[in-house]
Amino acid sequence: MSNLTGSTALVTGASSGIGETTALALAALGADVALVARREDRLHDLAARIRSAGGSAHPIVADITDAGQAQAAVEETVRTFGGLDVLVNNAGVMLLGPIEGAPTEEWDRMIAVNVQGLLYTTHAALPHLLKAAGGVRGAADVVNVSSEAGRTTAPGMGVYNLTKHGVGAFSDALRKEVSTRDVRVTLVEPGPVATELFTHIRPEVLAGWDSEGAKLLQAQDVADAITYAVTRPAHAAVNEVLVRPNGA
Ligand code: NDP
Repeated sequence: MSNLTGSTALVTGASSGIGETTALALAALGADVALVARREDRLHDLAARIRSAGGSAHPIVADITDAGQAQAAVEETVRTFGGLDVLVNNAGVMLLGPIEGAPTEEWDRMIAVNVQGLLYTTHAALPHLLKAAGGVRGAADVVNVSSEAGRTTAPGMGVYNLTKHGVGAFSDALRKEVSTRDVRVTLVEPGPVATELFTHIRPEVLAGWDSEGAKLLQAQDVADAITYAVTRPAHAAVNEVLVRPNGA
């Protein structure tokens, strides 16, 4: 399973950051890649870049917080490419700030994208993944992008911590349900990565955060962890990967 030729992958949050880089990496390994997010222009641009490098990609505009759109994105992937072997649940938002006095719509957004979106997409994809697992590849994959914040807590991160700890718990329970049927579940927990994720944080929260000299990963570091997991031989499952900036 060292290359992904003949496999189909769906990446949520493919319009920027870790999702974009992971989609490029999966396509370079030969997968047909469905690119799911809300920003249509970004998805079309990425699909064009993948195709011009000789790969195969299909942009799908969807807001995964809507169960119907998440389901439709999975169905469009299967209609376009004939199946689904690898689901990368990457879409997420991180709206930091103290719990006290927080604008609760930020909590709603984080729970909607990081938790409900991941659940809806997984639910829609599972029948297809279970079917693919019985095929020539010998396994199918769910990769859930959590965070170092899914195993720690910090002031100002309470609800983000809640969503990512939840992703970890769900991933482990899902693994116990499907691993005997050859669907592998990988939890990826990056430390801080240089992406757009931080740009959605309120300026007054960012102003109180000392990021001077902070060490950051690059999106490629996380994409490398994901491609490592999904290219293992079918008998080996990488259940958890924690990637931190060295020296952090
Ligand atoms: P980005 O902000 O660059 O990417 C987030 C992606 O999520 C975008 O493509 C965005 O696309 C998509 N997205 C957001 N809301 C929705 C929605 N409702 N429906 C569909 N797609 C949506 O950040 P990252 O690449 O850093 O984040 C990717 C994942 O990595 C997240 O789960 C994040 O929590 C996690 N992570 C990031 C870390 C970091 O430091 N950057 C560290 C640890 C984990 P669009 O707006 O076009 O819909």
